[in-house]
Amino acid sequence: MIKKNFLVFFGPPGSGKGTQVEKVSQKFKLPIISTGNLLRHEQEEGTPFGKKLSSILNRGELVPDIIINKIVAENLEKISNIKGAIFDGFPRNEKQQKFLLRTLKKVYKDNFNIYAVLINLSEKIILERLTGRRVCECGETYHLLYNPPRNKNICLKCDKKLFIREDDKPVIVKNRIKIYQREIVPILKFWENKSSLIIINGKKKISEINRNIFRELKKINF
Ligand code: AMP
Repeated sequence: MIKKNFLVFFGPPGSGKGTQVEKVSQKFKLPIISTGNLLRHEQEEGTPFGKKLSSILNRGELVPDIIINKIVAENLEKISNIKGAIFDGFPRNEKQQKFLLRTLKKVYKDNFNIYAVLINLSEKIILERLTGRRVCECGETYHLLYNPPRNKNICLKCDKKLFIREDDKPVIVKNRIKIYQREIVPILKFWENKSSLIIINGKKKISEINRNIFRELKKINF
């Protein structure tokens, strides 16, 4: 039986984690299990369950472990006959992490590899990236440093005034970083101790981050 390959991706808001998860998924032909996307999908479907979720998601709070673990287990079953999977946004705490490892062990015995990839970024850069974002009603997005609008705070496409997204305001961004650190720091230790943590510098360009991830995965024969 061929060993299954699993990856867990960690990265603070603004690290470009989602983009990298997509690229790794395409290269290794592994499906993505993104708990955030699965929850948003439920929310959009407008099911009674989705409506209950809405109030939690809109406040940016964590959905109870029992719900998350059930969603992950269902999705793991769906992919049981393929090469493995990439987890995005899961696990977010020790309970979820234990559940994941217990479930994989139950299904695949010792017949699987699992590694974690952390896209690392300092708090200063996260703040710079997220608080510099400016958006327009028409959907255009700018960044004061990386993709500045030519004419101050006016959209190039439709001349409307640009604004800052509510969750990009400094107080909120600081809170998002605090939540991320509170969740992730304790569980990273586990991967470090297992020598299964790949740390990638998130300050580089998207293409370079991507090359670095592929290179590190190659080193471990992923
Ligand atoms: P994300 O797209 O990963 O930032 O997730 C969006 C939202 O979904 C989060 O703010 C949480 O409310 C919820 N969520 C996603 N994944 C989890 C998880 N593993 N545990 C608890 N809540 C989650």
